[in-house]
Amino acid sequence: MDLPVDEWKSYILQKWSLLPKSIQVTISTAKTLNDLFLHSSPLLQPEDEMFLKRLSGGYLVGKDPDASLFYREKGNKKFREKDYMGATVLYSKAVSHSGPSSTDMSLCYANRSAALFHLGQYETCLKDIVRAQTHGYPERLQPKLLLRKAECLVTLGRPQEASQTISDLESNFAAKATLSASQFQILQRTLCRVKVKVQEKENLPEIFPEALTKTFEGVDLREENEQIPSASSSVSLHIDPLKGRYLVATKDILPGELLVKEDAFVSVLNPGEMPPRRHGLESKWDIQVTNGDLHCHRCLRRTLAPVPCDGCSYAKYCSQACMQQAWDRYHSVECSLGALLLTLGVFCHVALRSTLLARFEDVDKVIKKLCGEMSNQGICLPESRDPAQILKYDLRGEGEKKDKAVETPIPGCDINGKYERNYNAVFHLLPHTENHSPEHKFLCAVSVSALCRQLEAASLQAFTTDLQPTKLKAAETPVLCAELNVWGVAMLRHMLQLQCNAQAITTIQQTGSKENLITDTQQVRLATALFPVVSLLNHSCSPNTSMSFFGTIATIRASQLIRRGQEIFHCYGPHESRMGVAERRQKLRSQYFFDCNCPPCERERQKPSAGPGREAFRCHRCRALLQGDDVLSCGGPACTESLGRGLLVSRLQDLQRQVGAAQKRLRNGRLELAIQLLLGCQSDAESFLSADHSMVGEIEDTLAQAYAALGDWEKSATHLQESLRVVEVHHGPSSVEMGHELFKLAQVFFNGCAIPEALNTIQKAEKVLLVHYGPWNDEIRELQKMKSCLLDLLSIPGGPKE
Ligand SMILES: [Zn+2]
Ligand SMILES: [Zn+2]
Ligand SMILES: [Zn+2]
Ligand SMILES: [Zn+2]
Repeated sequence: MDLPVDEWKSYILQKWSLLPKSIQVTISTAKTLNDLFLHSSPLLQPEDEMFLKRLSGGYLVGKDPDASLFYREKGNKKFREKDYMGATVLYSKAVSHSGPSSTDMSLCYANRSAALFHLGQYETCLKDIVRAQTHGYPERLQPKLLLRKAECLVTLGRPQEASQTISDLESNFAAKATLSASQFQILQRTLCRVKVKVQEKENLPEIFPEALTKTFEGVDLREENEQIPSASSSVSLHIDPLKGRYLVATKDILPGELLVKEDAFVSVLNPGEMPPRRHGLESKWDIQVTNGDLHCHRCLRRTLAPVPCDGCSYAKYCSQACMQQAWDRYHSVECSLGALLLTLGVFCHVALRSTLLARFEDVDKVIKKLCGEMSNQGICLPESRDPAQILKYDLRGEGEKKDKAVETPIPGCDINGKYERNYNAVFHLLPHTENHSPEHKFLCAVSVSALCRQLEAASLQAFTTDLQPTKLKAAETPVLCAELNVWGVAMLRHMLQLQCNAQAITTIQQTGSKENLITDTQQVRLATALFPVVSLLNHSCSPNTSMSFFGTIATIRASQLIRRGQEIFHCYGPHESRMGVAERRQKLRSQYFFDCNCPPCERERQKPSAGPGREAFRCHRCRALLQGDDVLSCGGPACTESLGRGLLVSRLQDLQRQVGAAQKRLRNGRLELAIQLLLGCQSDAESFLSADHSMVGEIEDTLAQAYAALGDWEKSATHLQESLRVVEVHHGPSSVEMGHELFKLAQVFFNGCAIPEALNTIQKAEKVLLVHYGPWNDEIRELQKMKSCLLDLLSIPGGPKE
């Protein structure tokens, strides 16, 4: 997803292998990114571009009225089946394929408003009603829409507006007798119903819908850092030849303290699994729900009612305002390139968008800073104010960059030592050019060249034809001004930087079927982004912070007490509790080009095989733990059993498959069968796995879900507590994993009306989750709702007592 699609990758690698040795050497030994780009770019031949074009052709990114019709009909089907959520998403897909201001579009919005109404999303429903009307909703259908509007207004406690809507409706009827007698009767009845509701409500004070989310903007750093905006004053920036840049605590920091709150410099929504359309397959259009269907293309916030870009079907936004901002800043250029960007991968897209965003910065400042650096190295800077020109003079290799320390002590900072979250900071993130393989660099360079040629073609077209809307032309002109090669080199730099500096923006998504009363959650990747401040943190396999996201904003909180003078760490992915030391080291080496020296890595390196560990096997005879590498022998006092590791591993894989099969049954609602299978797995696991094995935890957790789905809360709680025990062994009592598991247990107790247990667990879950996420987290709000509900129950006279 990050890198180009496999077909293009293998095509280019093949091309590389066929290049004359001399050219391979020239490219492999290129001293600067500039040289790398200039030597690779001309090798992209027209037939290569044709091949790429064919690959891109598989993605449906334009508008297709037939697709709109197809999705609307699918949506109607879901609507009839009362799957309103499913219908909403399909109507959104339909909207994105219908032409602006077409009847088609107005019908899609109107249908979506109906689905939203059933989902209880009244505010959003009202917005879609307005959208349907502005896009020319047919006159004869208006009454239906107005009635829905009146009902929404009534439910939202806005009786005056509802009355107004009804009188509009009545005058509309009087003016036009467009309804059949029976339709008229139905409408009359509905009208009466609404009127009664209005009268009932009119006596009540106007109630405004409770704000759904506590405004995130209100949650702030206690004191902002003067040197690093977006960071708290509890940290300071340092540099070291070995570690590079890093952050250190300037005072003792308590668990839960907010250390960084940073909006991404650039972020690109991950398209998710979006397979290109293959010819000859029965279904032309995909009805799978992806990130792009549920999240705003710009701000990443979840939305049930996106509005599509006028020019393409893949960019959808939470609001008109977001759409306009995206258009002005980057989408005017990206709009026609959707298929190519999907083919070339998210990194290429982030690279393009970063350079597009750079156009809007205070160019003066960047020039002054780079000017200072250039003069140190005897390079004359031209008078040009074009940011692309500045880039040209800063595209140096890593070797040259080190000299800079003389002028500005820390790269990315301005002359006053202030680290700003701008393009300058992004530009200074390390591309590690010397560490990437020649093939990889060639792939990136050629992919960027292909993108450059498309950009050239697109901007030429925009320049020469007068058919484009004026806003498009205005936005694209700067593209033409920039020198394309310079632009290409900058994008290449970003593409190489991203391997080490890209930050995945994740979100917690609820999983499991609708029938499941306890929600299970899963972390999913939403976008790829660059955060200049977050990038200052070094990695540890056992970090002292926790990271979470709200839209495009990242927050980092202390997850434990951090003493003054200690370094602030965050985990790049390979976490101690999820990966063994060998696997971690391999991953960090290949992706991030360093050997980890964090305390757990050091510890495990010094005494490599410290006993059987948590994921141990045990003896089927005496139940003692087995020890050893290839051949495991029993540690029991009077037992001589020994077994080959291969045998045990294949037994574990077998068990894994069985658990998978049971989970599938559970998802399909075959609960009894799932439980039966799981109980079998449980006793199988007991016979050869340690009690703390993560597989044991997974089986318990799945059993808990199955019993919850049956409504057997007591059994569910028992199994969940077992799972909780395993999670604690693996991740620690105050880990975020523990928080999620406690949240589930709280739901089970709550549903089972075990009030004291529920209150107790809610408190524990809240405490753990607060440290990691802060107060605006969905689960925490849910816990608070449960708590106040339980406390209400307790306060009812004659109600249950604690
Ligand atoms: Zn948005
Ligand atoms: Zn577009
Ligand atoms: Zn480590
Ligand atoms: Zn034994």
